[in-house]
Amino acid sequence: MAGLMAGKRGLIMGLANDKSIAWGAAQALHEQGAEMCFTYQGEALGKRVKPLAAQVGSDFTMPCDVTDTDSLDAVFTAIEERWGKLDFVLHAIGFSDKNELRGRYVDTSAENFRMTMDISIYSFTAVMQRAEKIMPEGSSALTMTYYGAEKVMPHYNVMGVAKAGLEASVKYMAMDLGPKNIRVNALSAGPIKTLAASGIGDFRYILKWNELNSPLRRNVTTTDVGKSAMYLLSDLSSGVTGENHHVDAGYHVVGMKAEDAPDI
Ligand code: NAD
Repeated sequence: MAGLMAGKRGLIMGLANDKSIAWGAAQALHEQGAEMCFTYQGEALGKRVKPLAAQVGSDFTMPCDVTDTDSLDAVFTAIEERWGKLDFVLHAIGFSDKNELRGRYVDTSAENFRMTMDISIYSFTAVMQRAEKIMPEGSSALTMTYYGAEKVMPHYNVMGVAKAGLEASVKYMAMDLGPKNIRVNALSAGPIKTLAASGIGDFRYILKWNELNSPLRRNVTTTDVGKSAMYLLSDLSSGVTGENHHVDAGYHVVGMKAEDAPDI
């Protein structure tokens, strides 16, 4: 099955380290022959991202903070100059103040609410506004979401509200860009221990609960998520858009605690 992404050039946003979901995706895309540009949020992360990019054959890395419009514009100018086109985009970015990823959602501050929505929802729209101009027919964009958008999960709070907005924005962008044969999808990943997840209150409990109660009786890995991300970014999913694809060991179909799951 090698070479599914041969000749395809894509942008990967949200790589922080080798635990990132974006890294699982980058490895799967590289295995299939994709060429990638990586953005990083600030020079401290750049020191980690550049060697990882090199491991998957890329010297194309750029700083980008999605709250800074100029840095976003600079990324697309550089891609247009170097490649002239963009076949795929992976948006794996989300952020909220960790002090509000515990306790009650109703106590969320206005300031953090706005920042969370801006970084976690609008940034994907802002990226697609720019990407659309250089994406050819048959190209594909993907963002990362979580089941906390659909059902209330402990401590996920304002991020759950943001993911619900992100999932809705995927559907609207799928409709807007569909006539150009640009596909837009979301991948709903099960819980994985990453830098971003470490900000969520009692995350270890969520991990354990999913492991004990999902149909596959395990948690997913960045490799599981990366392979499905590759499918959604490749021509294998040519008829799929506006979708929210769950890669969560089946947890989203479960209605109650498994009979064989011990109390935790
Ligand atoms: P991660 O910490 O490795 O990645 C999060 C990335 O977001 C980082 O690279 C960070 O630099 C970037 N980011 C945050 N604010 C930014 C800004 N202003 N500008 C540019 N980049 C910014 O963690 P991850 O778990 O791999 O997260 C990737 C995506 O997957 C996120 O959207 C997250 O919500 C989602 N997700 C994670 C899980 C999980 O359990 N880890 C589950 C489902 C969905």
